[in-house]
Amino acid sequence: MNVYDSEQIAIQLEATGYQQTSSLEKANLVILNTCTIRAKAEQKAFSFLGRLARLKKKKPGLIVGVGGCVAQQEGAKILKRVPHLDLVFGTQTIDRLPALISKIEAKRCRIVDVAMAENPEFDPAPAEQNHNPVSRFVTIMRGCDNYCTYCVVPYVRGRETSRHPDNIIKEIKLFVDSGVKEVTLLGQNVNSYGKKEGLLSFTELLARVQTIEDLLRIRFTTSHPKDFDQNLINAFQTNDKLCNHIHLPVQSGSNRMLKRMNRKYTKEQYLDKVTKLRDTCSKIAITSDMIVGFPGESDADFGETLELIREVEFDGLFAFMYSDRPNAPATRFKAKISEPKKSERLQILLELQETYTKKKNEALIGSIQPIIAEGFSKKQSSGSLDKPNQTAQWTGRTSTNKIVNFYHKDIPGSCGDMFPGKLVHVKIDKAYAHSLWGKPVDIESTAEGLKGEKIYAA
Ligand code: SAH
Ligand code: SF4
Repeated sequence: MNVYDSEQIAIQLEATGYQQTSSLEKANLVILNTCTIRAKAEQKAFSFLGRLARLKKKKPGLIVGVGGCVAQQEGAKILKRVPHLDLVFGTQTIDRLPALISKIEAKRCRIVDVAMAENPEFDPAPAEQNHNPVSRFVTIMRGCDNYCTYCVVPYVRGRETSRHPDNIIKEIKLFVDSGVKEVTLLGQNVNSYGKKEGLLSFTELLARVQTIEDLLRIRFTTSHPKDFDQNLINAFQTNDKLCNHIHLPVQSGSNRMLKRMNRKYTKEQYLDKVTKLRDTCSKIAITSDMIVGFPGESDADFGETLELIREVEFDGLFAFMYSDRPNAPATRFKAKISEPKKSERLQILLELQETYTKKKNEALIGSIQPIIAEGFSKKQSSGSLDKPNQTAQWTGRTSTNKIVNFYHKDIPGSCGDMFPGKLVHVKIDKAYAHSLWGKPVDIESTAEGLKGEKIYAA
């Protein structure tokens, strides 16, 4: 979500004449977009801001701004804490950024604008510059109404609001016109897309996105298990652009913890949904989020989390040590778990998961996977995209979201027309912990490639 927001910030600033630079020293304006989901993310933001003091001293005209969730959470307090800061802007202020910057340029004043917008929708313009010309994020909803007890999102991102489908489609078409082949639709709980506003349902939105010509793949994140339903399960069968991957964060395998987290589902209900999903779409890869050391988590509760991991055999897990967040109710919960205990549990969990990640990756050895080439995996020694060196390594992802790398020199036939966005069928011959390695068996024009995807899907 922050990647998408940063792109929107760049678009707003480019419209006012600013250009992106990869050199901090050259910049006249530095905007830091922040995350506060865990304490560590917030600490990182403050330490980066602190380091900018030196730059501002050398270049007094430099404008320094901080946006995103830390800015929303702390507001004017950041100005006090960071004397060289000029601007604090909130998560719903991006469309006002050009006006705020102009004011600072003209008056050299310090500004705080963290007001939550009445209607947070603003119509994004196409991005000319971006980091990944092949795969892009598209926010379809903002905010969250779920109030999981550990989570800061409802307080810093505001109430759940869905963007109008016409704006979403328009934005994706603009991306596709500029060569994008894959989009990831973003929301904290995509299942409730459009419900409040009486718009399309999420599966109807997926069906509309599917009709966009030249778009090859659709992904989404995140689906909340409490609302994840048969309609969405069916979409994996009926929507041929929807990738065989779902991120379905479970957080814990203990019903007692799930209740204290206010997740509104039980372990049994979660497992039931996983079974239905696999019954409908046997090739689906399932990844999840886990929190270890939630207040009150006993050894037995943690044992149930490990048990759930063994039962589901996730393709991958993002696991986090619980951290207190401002305003989140769990911050006031008793029976906090010590840092060493949290760290020990995290280690155990990650080791267990690694066996399944490896097993899932190894199962793909010998299969032919359609992947969309995203670019070089190692930039320095690869040459330019239109003139790759012999050692150039391409990278892309399977439909199941696993990273696949391969040598440019292994591409059969003429490789002159190889470019990011090309659909490549890769025979997997090595599996590592976090990626796969293979040999391309053919490259295709994207349209036929999509059909190829069906033939080859492994
Ligand atoms: N909307 C998504 C999650 C968004 S936050 C959902 O409901 O699943 C991303 C992940 O950060 C969460 O799934 C959770 O695992 C983790 N997280 C959120 N708050 C946390 C906290 N206070 N401490 C540790 N991890 C946290
Ligand atoms: Fe946070 Fe829960 Fe909303 Fe996800 S669903 S963003 S975890 S409050």
